[in-house]
Amino acid sequence: MSCYKIYLKPKKEESLLRFHPWVFSGAIQTMDQKLEEGALVEVYSSDNRFLAIGHYQIGSIAVRVLSFKRRPIDHQFWVDKIHSAYQLRCVLGLANTPNNNTYRLIHGEGDFLPGLVIDIYANTAVMQAHSVGMHMCRMEIAAALKEVMRDELQNIYYKSETTLPYKAGLNSENGYLLGHDIDDIAIENGLKFRVDWQKGQKTGFFVDQRENRKLLEQYAKGRSVLNMFCYTGGFSFYAMRGGAKLVHSVDSSAKAISLTNKNVELNFPGDPRHEAYAEDAFKYLEQMGSNYDLIILDPPAFAKHKDVLRNALQGYRKLNAIAFEKIKPGGILFTFSCSQVVSKENFRLAVFSAAAQSKRNVRILHQLTQPADHPVNIYHPEGEYLKGLVLYVE
Ligand code: SAH
Repeated sequence: MSCYKIYLKPKKEESLLRFHPWVFSGAIQTMDQKLEEGALVEVYSSDNRFLAIGHYQIGSIAVRVLSFKRRPIDHQFWVDKIHSAYQLRCVLGLANTPNNNTYRLIHGEGDFLPGLVIDIYANTAVMQAHSVGMHMCRMEIAAALKEVMRDELQNIYYKSETTLPYKAGLNSENGYLLGHDIDDIAIENGLKFRVDWQKGQKTGFFVDQRENRKLLEQYAKGRSVLNMFCYTGGFSFYAMRGGAKLVHSVDSSAKAISLTNKNVELNFPGDPRHEAYAEDAFKYLEQMGSNYDLIILDPPAFAKHKDVLRNALQGYRKLNAIAFEKIKPGGILFTFSCSQVVSKENFRLAVFSAAAQSKRNVRILHQLTQPADHPVNIYHPEGEYLKGLVLYVE
């Protein structure tokens, strides 16, 4: 197969030699004029050494690497990569077990497939392309996925309408690449969920909080819980299973509240301990009393770009400050940031300032991150995005 080529400027090969999976546009010396976004391209050093093969894209990241070895990007390539990812989820005890059928199978760079995300909900895979290259390979990826997972997989829903670069003008439509709509129930750590991958946010469910929800369960006994930014209610049912006295779920989206209520009903039918409110977080926090002794703050990414970092940090500080002010003595706060551009240190600093403002004694009990099915490629530390702190507030 003939392939397009890119030649780097002298000395610009170093990050690729350290297996970092991106080539920035500034590193490029020359490239084929006919190279189009999404095409496969081989990357060479200035002295003509093969370095990597990947998908070309327009923008500051010019190539996302698929392989550092010279190999065809064919059916076998996709099967190998997906198989390796699936094996890891089996090792982690997430796949192929009656207690759990919800997990991330492909986490972009973390599974050496930059630009691709696949989440599994029971017998359905929800696939998201973040690059034109992955979009163009979607049918090959779907075929490989079915080959690896066989009967465990009945449906593949492709959901890239909002994740592909807007400027590429692909007008991709969401829809099934395999199977059809089914009313299936997903299971996470033995708890049941209905996932609306068609209308829900992201792939329909925040799979990345699984371990943190489990930890919360251990602290819930006898506590009055506020699950702020609840979305589909994940933390709420874990708190209920953990023996919480009461659980209040809050989200500004009425649709999210309706999903939360349905999911609570699925696990704890008729349980009077739970109530859910569709309300703005800041409004609710300002108006609430001081009765909660377990609060979860899991807001959406406050910063999607570096230029809004300052505002985002202020947002985290303000949000956490109200929680520190209102949480009952002896209370426990689970606080998170999923913004990739906010570093662990910056997040900690924002929470630290909020704590200082309240003048209360605060101790860090746990420092949380994303779970093992959202692995961080060791050569791509940017892949670490979820940060959380569990705090004991006297
Ligand atoms: N904790 C959830 C995921 C949270 S995602 C889980 O475990 O699944 C962030 C949520 O914040 C979204 O559901 C979004 O609707 C909600 N949200 C965004 N802005 C908000 C605001 N100002 N007040 C309350 N909720 C908000």
